[in-house]
Amino acid sequence: LPPAPVEALQGADVAALLPVPGTESDKYRRGVVGVAAGSTRYPGAALLAVAGALRGGAGAVRYTGHAAEEVVRRHPETLISDAGPARAGRVQAWVVGPGGGDGAEHALREALDTEVPVLADADALTELARLGPDLLAGRPAPTLLTPHAGEAARLLAGVGEHTDAETVAARRLWAARLIAARYGATVLLKGSTTVVADPEGTVRVNATGTGWLGTAGSGDVLSGLAGSLLATGLTPLDAASAAAHLHGLAGRHAAGPGAPITALDIADALRPAWQSLTG
Ligand code: AMP
Ligand code: MG
Repeated sequence: LPPAPVEALQGADVAALLPVPGTESDKYRRGVVGVAAGSTRYPGAALLAVAGALRGGAGAVRYTGHAAEEVVRRHPETLISDAGPARAGRVQAWVVGPGGGDGAEHALREALDTEVPVLADADALTELARLGPDLLAGRPAPTLLTPHAGEAARLLAGVGEHTDAETVAARRLWAARLIAARYGATVLLKGSTTVVADPEGTVRVNATGTGWLGTAGSGDVLSGLAGSLLATGLTPLDAASAAAHLHGLAGRHAAGPGAPITALDIADALRPAWQSLTG
């Protein structure tokens, strides 16, 4: 990989990226984000991804998967589709993978067969690592991958670069850039600092987070949020950058002077985090 400059994300830059509805906009023009997540075993991941997606600027969230009842009970705003991504109706970006379990491969394949951007996280990343980067080749729309260090190590193993989570965490820029180059996708590599890298070589880092964000379900909220921003029309690079920045601010806001937070607390704090950037 050639040397690349690293941009440090600043609040003012992120604020300028955030979508603002025009006077003539409606829920469809604002963007519909599809969430294919959760399974009978892990329904909670679906709730958390939807919670993030509802606060990311899209006009509507469409859910497909095995946790529809739980999703609607907790988030009555959600549109439900019984069919998978292939036949779900109007969607401008798909989020696939959180808590996906056995259904992740099918959902990933169907989402990748659509003509809209796809964000793959969690179980969808495990499937992608197993199936290899050819699965993404020739897509008409971009792909955004949101691995933590362990998932990143699996993605690298999928292209013959055998490593482990500790090495990824210690060599974050290398790992994010290599995955982006080999998979031809934008990468948001999670951890104590978040690295965003795109296949053209742009690299950004975000440091708004806090260790309190390391809590179960935290990443599911992030993937819903980033997918929602993608559905509003942001590029994968900008959607990933803005999502990482907002998610970090929300974690700080929720934790206050210092107290444990849950993933739902992070989702709830996304609104004040957004306001702190735009106010
Ligand atoms: P996941 O492992 O998928 O649940 O994602 C965890 C989320 O929490 C990611 O957004 C990470 O960047 C964030 N996170 C975890 N640990 C830390 C940390 N020590 N400092 C800042 N952010 C963190
Ligand atoms: Mg995760």
